[in-house]
Amino acid sequence: MTKIIDNLKQINQQVTDAKRVSSFQQDVTVIAVTKAVSLARTQEALEAGILDLGENRPEGLVAKQQEITGATWHYIGTLQTRKVRQVINSIHYLHSLDRLSLATEINKRAEQRVKCFVQVNVSGEDSKHGLAANELIAFIKSLADMDKIEVVGLMTMAPLDAEEQQIRNVFRELKQLQQQVAALQLPFAPCKELSMGMSNDYTIAIEEGATYVRIGTALVGNESEEAK
Ligand SMILES: *Cc1c(COP(=O)(O)O)cnc(C)c1O
Repeated sequence: MTKIIDNLKQINQQVTDAKRVSSFQQDVTVIAVTKAVSLARTQEALEAGILDLGENRPEGLVAKQQEITGATWHYIGTLQTRKVRQVINSIHYLHSLDRLSLATEINKRAEQRVKCFVQVNVSGEDSKHGLAANELIAFIKSLADMDKIEVVGLMTMAPLDAEEQQIRNVFRELKQLQQQVAALQLPFAPCKELSMGMSNDYTIAIEEGATYVRIGTALVGNESEEAK
């Protein structure tokens, strides 16, 4: 596998170029998605200077947290309600708030306010988790009394093998939704951030306003694929 530091150099260059194209002048945080790599490879990411790490399973998160200190932890996958208790007080961001039952459980189990991205299924694909765009505003308003939840932004995943224009449209729509929510000026939902873009589409996402990109394969690789 290529060294993470070399991958990062290339990615940082792409991020800089994409930010120049974006009309939003946003800051962009690169999250290293380490779900498919070992602890050693995750430590290599930290040594390369990446402090934001993303995991999508409670087991993987907990295992890495036992060995790594000083990281900012992002939970990026579907979170089962019964597993909330296991992770909610050890993460900094949840990227997958997608239903009221999950919000209720977080509100019950969290000791402090949790920064959440509400996941939206912009493309409308059946296989994707997330709220439909037309359910979003009502959902966010329904969180008003949950004092442990802060909606920092929205998250989406673009269709995997779509044309560039189709991917761009998905990201553009999420940006518009984010602006609509922010305009409501709800104290519990500042909604300034956009979590969108993965290895194959992060430059498009940044051009359309992403502030957090979640990069696995292109940055740290995928050891489970290589083992196959
Ligand atoms: C795995 C995963 C990523 C990273 O995907 P790559 O294509 O490897 O960059 C990003 N976001 C979510 C939600 C994921 O599950």
